[in-house]
Amino acid sequence: MLRFAIISKDNTKSIKLKDKICQILTQQGAIEDPSNPSIVITVGGDGTMLRAIHEYMDHLDTISFIGIHSGTLGFFTNYTADQVEELCEDILHVEPSIHEYNLLKIDLEDEVYYAVNELRIENVYHTQSIDMYINDEFLQSFRGNGVCLSTSAGSTGYNRSLNGPIIESSLNLMVMTEIAGIHHRKYKSLQSPLVMGGDTVFKMVLTKSDKAVLGIDHFTITPRSNAEISCCLSHKTVKMAFFKPFPYTKRLHQAFIK
Ligand code: NAP
Ligand code: MN
Repeated sequence: MLRFAIISKDNTKSIKLKDKICQILTQQGAIEDPSNPSIVITVGGDGTMLRAIHEYMDHLDTISFIGIHSGTLGFFTNYTADQVEELCEDILHVEPSIHEYNLLKIDLEDEVYYAVNELRIENVYHTQSIDMYINDEFLQSFRGNGVCLSTSAGSTGYNRSLNGPIIESSLNLMVMTEIAGIHHRKYKSLQSPLVMGGDTVFKMVLTKSDKAVLGIDHFTITPRSNAEISCCLSHKTVKMAFFKPFPYTKRLHQAFIK
């Protein structure tokens, strides 16, 4: 029997859609089971999808996600608000193809965090210094506002606003983009986005990190000064359900061109 959970954005339209989906699915014999769902339906935009994935972070191996967008951009969402019936039909009767996205694993001190989109280090109070290492080889001492380390799935998010490359989401890569680097005779850094392979360990040491903020998808944490952050692509994945083909090119066109 299909066990589902619905996570919606906190507005009237999304909550109405949530209720409607719940009603249709339960009428057809599916069971609403937020503590042990096999499919999680999100109603909102990408932000809602991010929140839902983090809510079920410890159970990602047994859950697939599908999103309906209720007005916002929705790069992760495949159905529109007027396709609710179609979505329910598909969930109940169609075998989805599953696309898996590798998460970014972030080791900070003794804590491990995972990001679907990216890790951001940002400081709007002081110049942020960050020493960067690739597989323990020193790359550079960066100075500026911060850095963004994005997954392929996240590359259309903040990374794109920083002029980072859009990376087709099936590719297991990560990309580092600098945020407002300071460059003159004394300070030098790459200045161009750096795409790295799935086995790379990218380490950042925050030197002079007073008031730096770490952003992980939709939430933030405050690191201690001189914090060391090690990132790599995890074997942990999030499963997205596709009940009909939605080519990446079409997704890009709909989100950014049309
Ligand atoms: P938000 O302010 O709602 O997100 C900003 C925008 O990014 C929204 O339009 C959101 O789409 C979109 N977005 C999120 N993930 C995306 C992805 N993988 N591809 C394309 N667009 C994406 O904040 P939020 O809802 O808490 O989401 C946090 C995410 O927002 C972060 O992970 C970061 O990628 C992104 N962000 C971007 C900027 C920027 O571009 N300057 C600044 C802050 C955060 P929806 O409207 O569908 O939610
Ligand atoms: Mn949002």
